[in-house]
Amino acid sequence: MAEKSEKIILLHQERKNAMAVPGLLEAPSGRVDDALGRPLHDLRISVTDRCNFRCVYCMPKEVFDKDYAYLPHNSLLSFEEITRVASIFIAHGVEKIRLTGGEPLLRKDLERLIGMLAALPTPSGRPLDLTLTTNGSLLARKARALKDAGLNRVTVSLDALDDAIFKRMNDVDFAVADVLRGIDVAHEVGLGPIKVNMVVKAGMNDAQILPMARYFKDTPYILRFIEYMDVGASNGWNMAEVIPSAEVVAKISAEMPLVAIDPNYTGETASRWRYADGSGEVGMISSVTQSFCKDCSRARLSTEGQLYTCLFATRGHDLRGLLRDGRSDAEIAGAVAHLWRQRADRYSDTRTQNTNTSDIEPGLKRVEMSYIGG
Ligand code: SAM
Ligand code: SF4
Ligand code: SF4
Repeated sequence: MAEKSEKIILLHQERKNAMAVPGLLEAPSGRVDDALGRPLHDLRISVTDRCNFRCVYCMPKEVFDKDYAYLPHNSLLSFEEITRVASIFIAHGVEKIRLTGGEPLLRKDLERLIGMLAALPTPSGRPLDLTLTTNGSLLARKARALKDAGLNRVTVSLDALDDAIFKRMNDVDFAVADVLRGIDVAHEVGLGPIKVNMVVKAGMNDAQILPMARYFKDTPYILRFIEYMDVGASNGWNMAEVIPSAEVVAKISAEMPLVAIDPNYTGETASRWRYADGSGEVGMISSVTQSFCKDCSRARLSTEGQLYTCLFATRGHDLRGLLRDGRSDAEIAGAVAHLWRQRADRYSDTRTQNTNTSDIEPGLKRVEMSYIGG
C-alpha cells in the first residue's frame, strides 16, 4: 500500500498528541477505511462543553460545580474552523454530521454554523445528513430557526415523564412538559423523524420504561432506550446499574408485543423493534451488552478541535493545531486519513465487568461525554 511507505513528518514534536501529516499527499477519494476495514462515515462535532443540565450519568454536580474550569472562548473552534474541518471529512466520505455537546443549543448563533454546514457540497451530490442532539430545554424556542438554517433532524434526550424522576436524573428543576413541547414544535416545523433517547439507569428511572413506551407509542417519534455506559471518569459507573436492553424489550413486550425489524443501514447504533399492532417503533442502544464496534464509522471532534476515534479514548489528536498553524486542506486531509487508517478501536467489544479504570494507563483519564459529545 502506498501509504505504508510514505514518509511521515511529525509536526509540533513537543505536543504529544500532534497529528502526523504524510509527506506524500493523496487527494481524498471519498472513502477511507480504518485498520479493521470500517469506513469514515459519521462525524460528531461538539460545539460547547457547557450544559444547563447536570445529568448524574454525564455531568454530575459534584464534579461539574461552580469551580469547574470550562474551556475559554478562544480554545473553541470557530464556526469557520468547524466548517473547514467538516468539508475535509466530507471529502473523505462523511455523509452524516451530528452537532452535540454539552448542550449544543447553548452555543451562541448556532444557526449560523448550521447554515454554513448545510451549504457544503458533497462528492455524491446527495445532501449532507445534518442533525443535532439536544436535551430539549431550548428547543421550543429555537426549532424554527434551526430548521430555516438547514438542520434536517433532531434527537432529543428525555429520561423520564415524571417530573420528580426527571429531576433526579438531570439534577436541575426543568419541567418535562417543556421538553415535550420542544419535541412537538420540532416536529411541527419539520425536524423529523425525531428520535427520543432515554438513558436507563437501574434504581433511578427504570420505573419509567413502561410510561415512556406508552406515551410515545402511536406518535411519530421513535423512542430509544440507551444502556447506561461507562463513559468518562466522573459518573462512577457500575455494571449493576446497567439494565440490559433484552430486559427492556421483554418488559415492554409483556404489555405491548414487539417484533424485531431490520436495521436501516449497516452500522446503525440502535436495534429496531416495531409494535406488533403496527403502532410505531422503538430502538435499543445496547452499547454495553451487545457492542457494535464492528461497524463503528464515527469520528468525534471536541469543542476545542481534538479528534477522537472512539468514545472511550483517553487521548485526542490535535486537529486545531494543524488548522491554526496554517496547514493546507490537502495536508489536513492527509493527516486525517493517516490517523483513520491506523484506527483499531473496539473498546465496547473488549469491555469487562470492571473496566471503569482497570484498562487505563496510569495518569490517563477517559474523556468526558460532555466534552467529546455523545
Ligand atoms: N446535551 C445533549 C443531550 O443530552 O442530548 C447532547 C449531548 S449528550 C452528551 C448526548 C447523549 O449522550 C444524550 O442522549 C445522553 O443521554 C447520552 N449520554 C450521556 N452520558 C451517558 C452515559 N453515561 N451512558 C449513556 N448515554 C449517555
Ligand atoms: Fe447535559 Fe446532555 Fe450531559 Fe445531560 S447528557 S448533562 S443534558 S450534556
Ligand atoms: Fe465505536 Fe469505540 Fe463505541 Fe466501539 S467503543 S462503537 S469503536 S465509539
